Parts: sequence; C-alpha cells; structure tokens
Amino acid sequence: MTEALKAKLFHSLGVDGVYGRTGSYEAVVAGLTRCLDGLRPEAAEVFRFPPVMSRAQIERSGYLKSFPNLLGCMCALDQPEAQARVAAGTCTETADWTSLLSAGDLVLTPAACYPLYPILAARGGLSEGGVTCDVACECFRREPSTAMDRFQSFRMREFVRIGAAQDIVQFRQDWIARARALADDLGLPHKIDLASDPFFGRTGVLMANSQIEQALKFELLVPVISAERPTACMSFNYHQDHFGETWDLKTHDGALAHTGCVAFGMDRLAVALFATHGPDSTAWPLTLKARLDL
Ligand code: 5GP
Ligand code: ZN
Repeated sequence: MTEALKAKLFHSLGVDGVYGRTGSYEAVVAGLTRCLDGLRPEAAEVFRFPPVMSRAQIERSGYLKSFPNLLGCMCALDQPEAQARVAAGTCTETADWTSLLSAGDLVLTPAACYPLYPILAARGGLSEGGVTCDVACECFRREPSTAMDRFQSFRMREFVRIGAAQDIVQFRQDWIARARALADDLGLPHKIDLASDPFFGRTGVLMANSQIEQALKFELLVPVISAERPTACMSFNYHQDHFGETWDLKTHDGALAHTGCVAFGMDRLAVALFATHGPDSTAWPLTLKARLDL
C-alpha cells in the first residue's frame, strides 16, 4: 500500500492515524453502510452512539484491565485552579495549559458495542429469544501509526446478539458465512482466522492464549498492505457472560445473558476496496459499483 493512495484518499491532519476524508472515499463508506443496512438482521434495534461514552461505564466493563494502553480519556480545564488561571489569562497556548487539565467523566469510545449493554441492563431482563441490535460509533484507540490500515479514529458498525449461549454461538457462525459472502460480492480476497485481542502486558499474553484456545474471536482478513500480514476488516466475537455479569444482564429465565458481536471496520473495508480495486472508484467493476450503489 502506497503513500500515494493514502494521499489520494485522506487529508493529513498533522497526527498519525487521524485523517480528513475525501469525497470519493466517503462515497465508498456510504456504499458500505447501505450494504450493511440491507443485511441488518430483521427486528434488530438500531443505536447510533457519539464518539465519547461514560468513563464510569468503561471502568466497570474491565477495559482498563485488558487494554489500558489503548484508552483515550477526555480532559478539560474544569477544576477551580484552572478556571482561575484561565480568568487571569495565564493559561494560554504559550504557557503550559495542559498541566492544568483534569480527567473528565468521558472516555473516547473504543468499540461500538460498549455503550449498549448498560442501556439494555437498565431495561430489566431480556424477553424470550433475546435481542439483536445494530450499533455504530466512531471509535478511538491510542495506537498512532503511519500504516494505512491502523487509524486512531475509525468507524465501526456492529450487529450484536444478546441472549442464551447457544443463540450467540449460532449467530456468530451465521455471520461468518454472511460476511464471507459480502466480501465475495465486494471482490475482496479474504480468509477467516482465529484471532485474539491485543491484551496488555504479560498477563495479556495468557489472556490472548486462552481466547484462542476457546475460539472466542475470529477475523476476516484481507490483504491490504501485504499478503503475508493481511488486515482484519471484520471480527466475530463471543464474549461469553462477561457483559452479562458486568451489567447483571439476564435472560428471560433468569440466567446470565451471553453476548456476541460481528464488527465491521468501515474504514478498513473502504481502504481494502481501494487497495484491491484501485484508487479511482469510478473505474471499478460495474457489478461492484452497483453493489455499493456508487
Ligand atoms: P476489534 O474490536 O475486533 O479489535 O475491532 C473490530 C474491527 O474494527 C476490526 O475488525 C477492524 O475492522 C476495525 N479496527 C480495529 N482496529 C482498527 C484500526 O486501528 N484502524 C481501523 N481503520 N480499523 C480498525
Ligand atoms: Zn462488539
């Protein structure tokens, strides 16, 4: 993947992994969004989340134990000392204003499904058959990189299933097949592989091994930068009862709910399309343009 393609699709914002997007790139993201709207499971409830969420909720979800290095936290000048310095005009771009910041009650949402579980839990137990949701969010992960497939700020769309264990396993199985069909439609060469999340530190290695042993995560990989190290453009996750336990989310018969999600990396999929079919989307195959309604 070349710098030339990156320059064609994105505008530099002066920070690695954070980009302004061009019109032709956004048209492809919009086309992918329409494809996924068409694949939305029947009766799925739709949620669209802002790029920030409650810090207390992410702390309770255990994210800091697993991925402290990836989390971004909102800071503001809202302590009395900072306010006084602002008022006195001594807090400026030239003075070190950042030393006056204090952590706020928001974090940058790291995955689209995190804000969903507390909402469902607040409604009480699930009805029989569980629930399926369609969520989307601009996500943030603190992993600056110049690579074309690793952004700090990127869009994620997910279909999430909450219910009994066997429902979730079936849901994930079905979605691996549907996702492969979508990748075929889009002309994306791909393979499905077992995967693990990038858990932090030495205990993280153990967590990643156990995730692989239990086959909790699969990814759909597309060669974007290289064939040897293909890029995860979608993931298929089974969280067992982790979120059920965290949020005391119960099925209709009082058991802890199990959850799973299929996550589509909208920006990675768009980049994969340009990498595969060329930088000029008007020259893409007619069938592909029709599928994306371009
Ligand atoms: P996961 O929660 O499985 O790590 O991420 C879900 C999906 O979000 C991934 O399969 C991928 O498509 C997308 N994603 C994860 N990290 C990044 C990233 O650094 N950059 C971009 N563009 N997409 C990402
Ligand atoms: Zn998820």
